[in-house]
Amino acid sequence: MMPIEIHMFPCLNDNYGFLLHDKESDLTATVDTPEVEAIMEALSQKGWTLTHIFNTHHHADHAGGNLAIKAATGCRIVGPKADAARIPGIDELVEEGDEFFLGDHPVRVLDTPGHTRGHVVYYLPEDEVAFVGDTLFAMGCGRLFEGTPEQMWSSLQKLMKWPDNTVIYCAHEYTQDNARFALSIEPNNKALVDRARLVDIARAINEPTIPTTLGLEKSTNPFLRPTSQEIAINVGMNDGNNKDTDLVEVFARIRALKDSF
Ligand code: ZN
Ligand code: FE
Repeated sequence: MMPIEIHMFPCLNDNYGFLLHDKESDLTATVDTPEVEAIMEALSQKGWTLTHIFNTHHHADHAGGNLAIKAATGCRIVGPKADAARIPGIDELVEEGDEFFLGDHPVRVLDTPGHTRGHVVYYLPEDEVAFVGDTLFAMGCGRLFEGTPEQMWSSLQKLMKWPDNTVIYCAHEYTQDNARFALSIEPNNKALVDRARLVDIARAINEPTIPTTLGLEKSTNPFLRPTSQEIAINVGMNDGNNKDTDLVEVFARIRALKDSF
């Protein structure tokens, strides 16, 4: 099996679009539909014919282009069962534990509520890549518009079970702001300091900081690090007691601080 081809391109202000292409079967999927013109342009540039949309969640910068793209291409729309009513044009309803195929490539679905009620992510284990929408960002995570800290922390813990070398495609270029916040609560994390410097260099020449890897996120993303003593202290949980029961509270405080950063 040849590796899946992935084409990433900017959309709107700070979104990324992603095309997945399987050469053998000639199938092509877009993850979400942030911007119709940019997606159609990317397809024609690559010479690919769109066959699928994989939606992560219902927000306009993710599903807003569904109907126009479906009308233009006749593609099938795969999306979260839990939010089917809010995914325009949805054909296939998927949920936690489902596995389907793009050609020979298995695609696994995980429910990751928190940012929205019905958010899902798509994981391609054989290709060691994942498309996480607005659940996980480089050094960040999605805002909790429709979910609780408990839900989001449990969603993120599911992603943390993937191999560290999993390549993660996040839907937004929020990395530089996220790094600044992360440094404010974990300034002595050397991996974070080093990464923030590289991010500044990349952004100064307008290079994307996406994709990332799970291993890099585990060592630098504060939202995956409520077990960090330094973070716990800096968010006001200074009892130094990091039993499992406290991690949700640390996570909730990190999220709340970031909301007003
Ligand atoms: Zn969103
Ligand atoms: Fe978004």
